[in-house]
Amino acid sequence: MYFYKNEFMNKDDIQLSPDDRGYYFGDGIYEVFRVYRGQLYEQDAHMQRLQRTASEVRLTLPYTIEKIGQILTELVDKNKLIEGTLYLQITRGEAPRAHPFPTQAEPIMLAYCTEVPRPTATIHNGIKAITFADIRWLRCDLKTLNLLPNVMAKQAALDHGVQEVVLHREGTVTECSASNLMMIKDGVLYTHPANHLILHGITRAVVLRLAGALEIPVKEEAFTTKQLMAADEAFITGTTVEITPILEVDGLTIGAGTPGAYTRKLQEEFVRTFS
Ligand code: PMP
Repeated sequence: MYFYKNEFMNKDDIQLSPDDRGYYFGDGIYEVFRVYRGQLYEQDAHMQRLQRTASEVRLTLPYTIEKIGQILTELVDKNKLIEGTLYLQITRGEAPRAHPFPTQAEPIMLAYCTEVPRPTATIHNGIKAITFADIRWLRCDLKTLNLLPNVMAKQAALDHGVQEVVLHREGTVTECSASNLMMIKDGVLYTHPANHLILHGITRAVVLRLAGALEIPVKEEAFTTKQLMAADEAFITGTTVEITPILEVDGLTIGAGTPGAYTRKLQEEFVRTFS
């Protein structure tokens, strides 16, 4: 069961218009929620980010946040989803193609959920990455549909036989194609500050809270690809990847080349937040 425009319906009954500005301009916003034990994880944080993105791109949400929350909960219940993800997208609506905001269009909300198990193999075994130029715009803090650079980057990783890219702007690491990046050096956790150059990940925020509780010093400071190569541990954070170790970048081993002790400790604590 999907939610489209104002109702719950079967996927096959959804009739999309080519005039949806999501197609023409990527003129829309989205969120991906994790569902653990039939519950939306960090729902309030996702809703706050949705509201912030909507306001920054001047898109009026079709319902109140409370109402959207009710719809999403109903969607999870109707689909009897226990473990998976929920995708929520809101576009600026349907109108003949023209750049200015349409005066008549109503925003269109689409939501559906998918049963997906936790990616336990990569969480335990780690992944490899390559560095890749971050050619995105300067509002990477907004969760909009304009994901072509992320798509290109992810495909470049797969073409190189690895799973992820470490995006960098002239050597300064920002984040990954669909996750944030953290590294441990001499017992300190480093990650890019939450400014306009990265998405302010919900998982990033959870992990920084956990690091605080574990008394791991945190520095929200940018670092270079060279510093990353010399790190003791590195991992990515995201709604779908949770905390996944990065063991190799551009063929160079990070630390011991196995998931590190800090990473494992944070992973253990992370699991506790939803179990
Ligand atoms: N950065 C980018 C570019 C992303 O697409 C995502 C996934 N939404 C993240 C970081 C991680 O954010 P979150 O923890 O909220 O999933």
